[in-house]
Amino acid sequence: MMQIPLSVGSMMEHAEQFFPKKEVISQTHDKLHRLNYGEIGQRTRRLMSILNEMGIRQGNRVGTLAWNHHRHLEIYFAAPGMGAVLHTINIRLSPEDIIYIINHAEDKILFIDEDILPLIEHIHTHLTTVEAFVVMTDKADLPESSIQPLYSYEELISTGDPLYAFAANIDENQPAGMCYTSATTGKPKGVIYTHRGIVLHSFALGLADTAAISESDVSMPVVPQFHVNAWGTPFACTWFGSTQVMPGPRFTPKRLAEFIERFKVTITAGVPTIWLGLLRELEQGNYDTSSLRAVLCGGSAAPIGLIRAFEEKHNIPFYHAYGATETTPLATISRLKSYQQTITQEEKFEERARQGILVPGLQMKVISDQGEVEWNGKDMGELLLRGPWIANEYYKDERSNDAFKDGWFHTGDVVTVDEEGTIKIVDRTKDLIKSGGEWISSVELENAIMAYEPVFEACVVAIPDDKWQERPIACVVLHEGFEGKVKKEDILAFLAAQFPKWWLPDDVLYFDEIPKSSVGKFLKRELREQVRERFSI
Ligand code: ADP
Repeated sequence: MMQIPLSVGSMMEHAEQFFPKKEVISQTHDKLHRLNYGEIGQRTRRLMSILNEMGIRQGNRVGTLAWNHHRHLEIYFAAPGMGAVLHTINIRLSPEDIIYIINHAEDKILFIDEDILPLIEHIHTHLTTVEAFVVMTDKADLPESSIQPLYSYEELISTGDPLYAFAANIDENQPAGMCYTSATTGKPKGVIYTHRGIVLHSFALGLADTAAISESDVSMPVVPQFHVNAWGTPFACTWFGSTQVMPGPRFTPKRLAEFIERFKVTITAGVPTIWLGLLRELEQGNYDTSSLRAVLCGGSAAPIGLIRAFEEKHNIPFYHAYGATETTPLATISRLKSYQQTITQEEKFEERARQGILVPGLQMKVISDQGEVEWNGKDMGELLLRGPWIANEYYKDERSNDAFKDGWFHTGDVVTVDEEGTIKIVDRTKDLIKSGGEWISSVELENAIMAYEPVFEACVVAIPDDKWQERPIACVVLHEGFEGKVKKEDILAFLAAQFPKWWLPDDVLYFDEIPKSSVGKFLKRELREQVRERFSI
């Protein structure tokens, strides 16, 4: 067969050729834009020519600090399209982490949304490699700023070359993108995505038994473009010619619900906290969501109650998927096999609340101290992954040796696997609660508590215990109107029917809000400290 390198630029060329009329609908600070792939392609080419003029060469890192919108999408293709590296930076990290990431990646140029400019003004004197800043705004004039040199995106590309060619000499194994983990577990670690990895992952998103993304889809990525490339959906959707709806900066559940109705969104992707928020909105308002064929949920465990609410109350198909920054991210997705259609409705929900089976193209194994664990749905071990879109190291980071060993990525996730090959995440290695020599899964308790009607969110963490080593504590946020009406005993009684006695939390603490990470995951590290304070330990 021919040895044709897989490249990100060729995905945009395909969209320009075959889907020039299909649209990207994009909300920015000031307005709603509608551009087709013909226009997006031209703007991408103009941007490549400008990057070239500004001295960006193959391998240079191009940083972005931006929300989900069309300009961000253009950089997604322009940077790798000319052989440079798209580096999406998580704007919700601490200023210290952002400085660390930009300097560590050695970004040469930064593309910044106008509302993020103050953050960069605050830190720019610490940035050691950045030579130019570009602000993405709809306004004609550049905002007042202490940052120099500062350019306007629209002004720059207006002088660019609309016929500038995508680089022809791409090696498919060269870096196309990079992203740092969201630091729920220490200093951010950099992951490099190759052209080959991104293209093959996009194919995987198009498979009928994964996300089945196709031309006829209207895709609204809610997961940020700065978080694992919005799970790769902008690459796949552009390539396949799907309509894309970019919800823009600081969106609310209301905006999401309105966009679903107005643009007839068929597929959307995000973390469970986003869907909990949307659910609240759907229950308050009267929205037509009948266009939705799939809500993809990942990043942390989807509670069974959430899946049930979407499907039974709103008739919206809900798919639970699993992955990580290191896995581009799609690794598993939960779908029933054809012969599982006959199981009871309750069993179906239980099955689909698991993380699912491995996407074709990847390999997995689960190991414990005793070696590979049996696929019996009971034995636990750490999930190891390998495949063409799984990272093989952290960028210039000594911690690579802990996570990448013997050709496998060690996920740090403890799982069981049943006879069908369905994985169930029991916990992250560091969040498992060790009580009296046995393990308690914080995730299972959380999901069970969140299935209790009055509970909005629940998070379970360990506190040290003299006798048992560790004991679980449940931290609970109640739905509005239930405050003061639900006793600790009610929650424990609800759990008692499902768990052995020694699994039941020693206490239930009420919170107004559970602290969340930059990408909406429960921040257990911080919650543990708050719990310790309440107990004065
Ligand atoms: P961070 O490690 O900083 O949280 P990532 O976004 O890379 O950043 O997180 C990947 C981790 O998120 C996985 O290793 C796993 O622990 C968790 N995760 C992702 N998807 C799921 C899911 N569907 N269910 C449970 N945990 C999940």
